[in-house]
Amino acid sequence: MAEVSLRGMRKTYGRVVAVEGVDLEIAKGELIVLLGPSGCGKSTTLRMVAGLETISAGQLFIGGRDVTRLEPKDRDIAMVFQNYALYPHKTIRNNLAFGLKMRGTPPDEITRRVDAAAEMLDITHLLERKPGQLSGGQMQRVALGRALVRDPAIFLLDEPLSNLDAKLRARMREEIALLQRRIGKAMLYVTHDQTEAMTLADRIVIMRDGHVQQIGSPLAVYDRP
Ligand code: ADP
Ligand code: ADP
Repeated sequence: MAEVSLRGMRKTYGRVVAVEGVDLEIAKGELIVLLGPSGCGKSTTLRMVAGLETISAGQLFIGGRDVTRLEPKDRDIAMVFQNYALYPHKTIRNNLAFGLKMRGTPPDEITRRVDAAAEMLDITHLLERKPGQLSGGQMQRVALGRALVRDPAIFLLDEPLSNLDAKLRARMREEIALLQRRIGKAMLYVTHDQTEAMTLADRIVIMRDGHVQQIGSPLAVYDRP
């Protein structure tokens, strides 16, 4: 069974239909990119999977469990935001550790997970600093690290690279691709950037006006007129 299944997912805001009839199966280790112009429903779809928006109709399964009505904290997910959302007064180590601490993870387990994530993302030397002392690229790594320590079934990324300059964006794109292969988890990645989609995706989901217009490998999607 797929790691994550979206079945007939729909979101309405009053009379506005933001997302309709989205069906998608995501396998373990698969990176799916949601691609399409502004306003087509990408973020809303991602936020419904995250539990940040209620699901108006349809069902969502994560790890074989129906999580349609569950709170974000009860879903096996981690989200990486475009604006990083780090705690400014905590050190990077404590930023990475905080969620696990709240969940009651034993301290030695927290240290182990934080150190492993920091090493994977090459931010070990930054662990005692605070977010204000970091560059944009470094903060983005920390944001990825914070998701990584949660060890979720699926990573949800909403335009994670859009605040970076072009050069850094290209580099982080490569690193996310490598990280994805190393950890072998499911990823759902929202972007409006075609290059990002082509480089990263196992499959691209093209959205238009709240619907899925096409799903396929990057080559299949772009070979067709
Ligand atoms: P995308 O991420 O592709 O840019 P969104 O998912 O943000 O698109 O938006 C999809 C549609 O839903 C748009 O028409 C948008 O205006 C509408 N929408 C999103 N959030 C809200 C909201 N909180 N209230 C009303 N309409 C919304
Ligand atoms: P916890 O790990 O116990 O959920 P946190 O303080 O990390 O505690 O998170 C507070 C809230 O924000 C929770 O609902 C949690 O699920 C959510 N949250 C924290 N970090 C992330 C993340 N990277 N992705 C998704 N949700 C998150």
